[in-house]
Amino acid sequence: MIQYQEILNDIYNEIQPFINEGKVANYIPALAKVDPDQFAMSLTLFDGRSFHVGCSDNKFSIQSISKVFTFTRALDIYSTELYNKVGKEPSGDPFNSLIQLEHEYGIPRNPFINAGAIVVTDALLTKYKNIDNTFDNILGFIRDISDDQTIDFDKEVWFSEYKHGFRNAALANLMKSFNNIDNNVDDVLKTYFKHCSITMSTKELSRATLFLANHGVDPINQKQYITPQQAKRINAVMLTCGHYDASGEFAFHVGLPGKSGVGGGIIAVVPKVMSLAVFSPRLNSWGNSLVGTKALELFTTKSGFSIF
Ligand code: GLN
Repeated sequence: MIQYQEILNDIYNEIQPFINEGKVANYIPALAKVDPDQFAMSLTLFDGRSFHVGCSDNKFSIQSISKVFTFTRALDIYSTELYNKVGKEPSGDPFNSLIQLEHEYGIPRNPFINAGAIVVTDALLTKYKNIDNTFDNILGFIRDISDDQTIDFDKEVWFSEYKHGFRNAALANLMKSFNNIDNNVDDVLKTYFKHCSITMSTKELSRATLFLANHGVDPINQKQYITPQQAKRINAVMLTCGHYDASGEFAFHVGLPGKSGVGGGIIAVVPKVMSLAVFSPRLNSWGNSLVGTKALELFTTKSGFSIF
């Protein structure tokens, strides 16, 4: 019998020397206001038992973790047609880079860099017609998989990002010039920033991502959200692209499909066993939670769970 709580408690102690390392994202001014020294880690098992350490009820901005949920929705709607607009290869570039896009005719490498997620949001906007309907669908999906109808977004973070989202506007406009954005650029960006500013705790995130660990089916209530094949694909893209140009590093040190966000959160999936979420706002140079990555590395080392 694995002593999950003991493992989490040990991790909590072992990450303490690193808790002041790294920098909080400040290119979104509202994000720079968070308490930088927070730490939380949660895991949820298929039978519904969950284990937590640190401030696991504190909500934070999920940021790019939302890209997993929008990709899931878009795959469900468009299936493999989606790959005409966005690829599935690692980019080897930072999450907000413009360089490849020019060379590659406005087709982003994958759905987990900003350009790719903006294209996915555009595809959802085409289906759901306007900002409110589209966002309601994304939020509704996240509420369903979390089994929690209270999950919401942070208006201050949303507006702050909209006001300062110059690089994302550049990405969207460049893709529009290649005809890879179908809707009004401002509508796409507003919807994208809105889903990035959804707030969740590690407790909620580790519950919400269980379907990815179980072939697309929520193991607690048996709801099927996507096909087993799609779940396999999402996990594959998380493993190869979930941490941008540090995806290799993450696979090397942690060995699980995962996705980070600049809010300091990371989700990770142990296929057929559990889902994990960590939160610590200070980031490493790639824009991934520094302590969060260390905590997940410690977890796979101590528990022996890894896909390799
Ligand atoms: N909303 C953020 C942005 O567009 C998401 C980036 C991230 O979490 N890596 O810049």
